[in-house]
Amino acid sequence: MKVLVTGGTGFIGSHTIVSLIETGMKPVIVDNLDNSLPSVLKSLEAITQTTIPFYEVDCNDQEAINQVFEKEKDIEGVIHFAAHKAVGESVINPLKYYQNNVGSLIVLLEVMKKHQTPHLVFSSSCTVYGQPGQLPVTETSPIIPAESPYGNTKQICEEVIRDTVHSSQADLANFQLNAILLRYFNPIGAHPSGHIGELPLGVPNNLVPYITQTAAGIRDTLTIFGNDYDTPDGTCIRDYIHVMDLAEAHVKALQLLANKSENGSICEVFNIGTGKGNSVQELVHTFEKVNNLKLNYEFGKRRPGDIEQIYASVDKANQQLGWQTKRSLEDGLRDAWNWQQKLIK
Ligand code: UDP
Repeated sequence: MKVLVTGGTGFIGSHTIVSLIETGMKPVIVDNLDNSLPSVLKSLEAITQTTIPFYEVDCNDQEAINQVFEKEKDIEGVIHFAAHKAVGESVINPLKYYQNNVGSLIVLLEVMKKHQTPHLVFSSSCTVYGQPGQLPVTETSPIIPAESPYGNTKQICEEVIRDTVHSSQADLANFQLNAILLRYFNPIGAHPSGHIGELPLGVPNNLVPYITQTAAGIRDTLTIFGNDYDTPDGTCIRDYIHVMDLAEAHVKALQLLANKSENGSICEVFNIGTGKGNSVQELVHTFEKVNNLKLNYEFGKRRPGDIEQIYASVDKANQQLGWQTKRSLEDGLRDAWNWQQKLIK
């Protein structure tokens, strides 16, 4: 299957390219390099020993996206990663987020409709659940009003996709769309080769790149945001999933779409996590242990808007996608440090 991957040089996108090629699929990358570097393409080609078609195109540019479809001819599926993702920035500049994240999805769907491209896998997020009343959180847990414009764009995009699939179920629409919405938990780690990984530009917002940069001496001290939460050690709990496991879920999603769509349109949601929660403090200790080093850290104030705890039920993904995680938290933290060390050299 030839698959258009928007945001294919980003963190999750680049690892997914590797998994797609390993499975014999043919990815085509579209990325405007807004938050990634052209060197990622070279690294991907080194890992996979494959030349990967790449288009430096903004997903909001309908004419340019259309040209990619025309040139590549037989694109059967799209994985849409490309989006802005900084929660804090989205509060300051909401229009940028609505325009880019929602606008680019609509552009893609229009072009997919024009070319009768049937399969879409969309990057959603566990932020749609807010602070769940019950843990682990399942796909049928309530969606709560988003705390940030970023979170809201994920909810809106899910609805846009659901409505489009629904319209294609009514025969009149002349466009049969099938979609899988993957709600990611917290991706960590890197490809074990150390050729690709997370590349935050500027000061990292996320925990693991902040940890690895502190260990590398790029940052002085990691601040753990709050140790007075109602959790066993007082720090927040998340479900940290190895990015290669997350990448493999996209391959399974495309395979499910290809097999199921014979019998009419589908739109399915899956949680993609490990099913296990770890606290920030546990993460720091595990990082120190597996990499045999000491991390400079201190406890600070809570970060506004943080969820106290969340982790996934992954039963649906295990059963219906036939997907499971293969890598541990330790693997993720080892691979993240391996990647950071190669970056310094
Ligand atoms: N965190 C922290 N210090 C940091 C960055 C993050 O203590 O410098 C905590 C944050 O409060 C949260 C967890 O690490 O409890 C994961 O944060 P991240 O931003 O990586 O993911 P998200 O909050 O979106 O799940």
